[in-house]
Amino acid sequence: MAEEIVEQGYRELADTILEHNPGVDLGRVRAAFEVADLAHAGQRRKAGTPYVTHCVAAAQICAEMGLDEDSVVAALLHDCIEDTSLTHDDIARQFGTEVADIVEGVTKLTRVHFTNREDEQMENLRKMLMAMAKDIRVILIKIADRLHNMRTMEYMVPSKQLEKSMETMEIYAPIAHRLGLQRVKWELEDLALKYIDPDGYQEITRYLEEKADTLNAFMSEVQKKITDRLTEYGITATVQSRIKHTYSIYRKMYAQKLTVDGVFDLCAFRVIVDNIADCYNVLGHIHDMYRPVPGRFKDYVASPKPNGYQSVQTTVIGEEGIMFEVQIRTWEMHRTAEYGIAAHWKYKSGEAGVRAGDEEKFAWIRRLLEAQQDSDAGEFVHDLKMDMFDDEVFVFTPQGDVVNLPAGACPIDFAYGIHSAVGNSMIGAKVNGRIVPFDYTLQNGDIVDILTSKSAPGPSRDWMNLCKSNAARTKIRQWFKKERRDENILRGREMFEGELRRAGLSMNYLNDEELLDTCLRKLAVNSLDDLFATIGYGGITSTRAVNRFRDEIARAAKQSSQKTALDKLNEAAERRSTKTGKAVNGVLVEGMENCLIKFSRCCTPVPGDPIVGYITRGQGVSVHREDCPNYLNNVKEDGEDRWISVEWADATTGLYSTTLRILARDRNGLVLDIATVLNTLTAKVDSLNARRLPDGNAMVHITLEVADLTTLKIIIARLRAVGGVRQIERGNG
Ligand code: MN
Repeated sequence: MAEEIVEQGYRELADTILEHNPGVDLGRVRAAFEVADLAHAGQRRKAGTPYVTHCVAAAQICAEMGLDEDSVVAALLHDCIEDTSLTHDDIARQFGTEVADIVEGVTKLTRVHFTNREDEQMENLRKMLMAMAKDIRVILIKIADRLHNMRTMEYMVPSKQLEKSMETMEIYAPIAHRLGLQRVKWELEDLALKYIDPDGYQEITRYLEEKADTLNAFMSEVQKKITDRLTEYGITATVQSRIKHTYSIYRKMYAQKLTVDGVFDLCAFRVIVDNIADCYNVLGHIHDMYRPVPGRFKDYVASPKPNGYQSVQTTVIGEEGIMFEVQIRTWEMHRTAEYGIAAHWKYKSGEAGVRAGDEEKFAWIRRLLEAQQDSDAGEFVHDLKMDMFDDEVFVFTPQGDVVNLPAGACPIDFAYGIHSAVGNSMIGAKVNGRIVPFDYTLQNGDIVDILTSKSAPGPSRDWMNLCKSNAARTKIRQWFKKERRDENILRGREMFEGELRRAGLSMNYLNDEELLDTCLRKLAVNSLDDLFATIGYGGITSTRAVNRFRDEIARAAKQSSQKTALDKLNEAAERRSTKTGKAVNGVLVEGMENCLIKFSRCCTPVPGDPIVGYITRGQGVSVHREDCPNYLNNVKEDGEDRWISVEWADATTGLYSTTLRILARDRNGLVLDIATVLNTLTAKVDSLNARRLPDGNAMVHITLEVADLTTLKIIIARLRAVGGVRQIERGNG
C-alpha cells in the first residue's frame, strides 16, 4: 500500500520534470529517489505516510518551479544529512559535490530556528538566511520543503502549527516574494493564516464559499465581455480570472477596518498577450469598457518591480459598482511572475538549467535582491535597507538575536554593536563556545558571547585598527576622549613633540605666548593640554597641529626684519639630515657609525627615555637610561670617560624589550587581573612571573616588548589601576 503511494508520487514527479525539461537524465533522478527511499526506510511522517513522500513532494514543487536537474536531485535528498546516516561525502560520491553542497546548505538552514521577534530582527534573519546560502537553489529547496510541510501541517500539534506558521509568514513568504515566486508566496501565506488566525481565515473562506456562485457568474461574464471585445479588434489574448488569495483579502480587511463583505475587489483578471504593444492596446480597451479607479493604474512594464515582476495593472469599476483589478502582460512576463527566478533560469538562459556554481549567473539575483524600490504600498519598506550581502556578516547573540555587522568584523565590533558599555568592559570573547582572539573574523551564523568584567581596563587603542565598523571605532574614540584625558595629553604631547622634531622646530616656540595663542585659536582649542588631549584621542592629527605652528612661525618671521624663522627652520632641517642614516637599533652614537649597540638589562630603555651610552670592553656600546642607578653610581666611581652621549633616532621602528616590577598586595586573581590588562592592551608579553613575599605582598616581574615610552606609560598607568597594586618600577632593579 505504502509502496503504491510512493511510486505514484515518483511517476508524477518524473512527468513534471519531463514536461518542463525534456533533456533531463531521469536515471539520476530515479537513483536519488531510491537512495532517499532506502535512507529514510522505516521513518514516517506524522500523517502516517512513508517519510520519502515528503522528499518526493518537495522535489515535485521544485520541478513545478522549473528548477534544474541538480535541484530536483538535491530536493529528493534534502533531509538525508539531517535525518539519516548519509553524509555529505556519501552524496558527493554518487551525485557530485554540487548536489552534496546544496543538501548540506539546506541542512544548515534547517538547524536555524526562529521565534517571534521584532520587525527589524526578522529582516535581519531573512537576510541572514539568504546570505548563508551560497547557492540560491538552497533557498528554493528550503522554500519547497516548507511549502510541503505547511500543506501537511494539520498533523502537527497546535503549538508547532502556530510556531511554524509564524515563521512561514515572517521569513519564508517574504523570501518567496523577493525571489518572485508569486504563487508559492500566496500559498504559504494562506496556509500560515489558517493557523495564525483560524477565525479570520474561516470568516473569509466561508464568505467566499457562500458567494462562490455569484462571484463565478460575475467573473465569467466579465471574462467573456473582455474576450469578445478583444477578438472584435483582432487582438490575440488569453483572459483569466481568479478570486484573490485569502491573506490579501484578510490584510485589506484589517488595514481598512472592514468586514469581508466590505472588501470590494475580491476578483482579479489577467489578460495575457503576445507583445508589449498589445499590453497598452488592451489597457485602452479596458478603460473604454469600464471606469478606471483614479490612482490605481500602475505600469510595471516600463519600470519592473525589483523582483522582476512586470505587468500593466489597473483597477476598474464594473456594472453594479463592483471593483476589480486587471493585470495585463506578455507570456514571458507571465512566466516570470509565476515562477520568478526559475523562469529566468529556464527561459532567459535558453538552456535546460543553470550550470551550477556559475557565480556570474547568480549575480543578477543578488542585484535583484539588493534592489531598492519595491513600490508595493510600503509592504517591504525594509527592502530599502537592503545592502549588498557581500559586505555584511550576520551573527547571533547567545540569546539568539541577530546582529548585523560589516564583513570582516571581529568580536570588538560585535561588543560595541550590542552596547558601548559591553565593548568598554570587554575582556574576552567566545565564538560557538570557544575562546577566540580579539581579531577573530566573524562568520555568518556564529554565536558570539562577549566576556565582560566590571574591573575591565577599557578598550585599547589597537582595537580601533582591529574593528571594521565605524560605529565601534567612534565609540572607542569617545571612550578615550572622555575617560582618558591624562593619558591622551601624555600621548598627544609625545606625538606632537615627535612631529615638531621631525619638522625641525624647537619646543621653545611653545614659550612664545603670542604665537601659542594664535595657533590654539586657529586650531579651535582652549589650551595646550586641550590640544594634546585632542591629538591623543585622534580628534586632530599631530601633523596638522604642527603645520599650523609652522605656518604661524613663518608668518611671524616675515614681519620681522631679522633672519627669518623660515631660514632657521631650513637650517634645522639640514642639521637633521646630516644625522640620519647612522642609527643602529634606533640609536645614534656621537662620533661613531655602525658600532655595536645593546640595551642594558638593568634599566631596559625604550625609545623616548633619555639615554646615555657606556663603551664596553669589546662589546660595543651599552645603552642605559639617564636615571639608571648603575649609571649614576658608576659615573661617581669611574669618572665620565667611558660614558658617551647617545640619542634615539627620529623614527624608531620595531619593538624594544623592557621589564616592569610590580609590588602588590597578594590576593586571589592578582595575576589574572594583570594578565587581562595586558591582554586588552594587546601588549606583547614575553614573560610574567610572580612570587609571594614574606610580608604579605607579591612581586610580579613582567618582560614585554613595546614600541616606545608612550605605549609603556599607558601600560603602566593601566596596571596601576589593578586592585592591590602598590608600586610599579621599571627595569630589573
Ligand atoms: Mn524536509
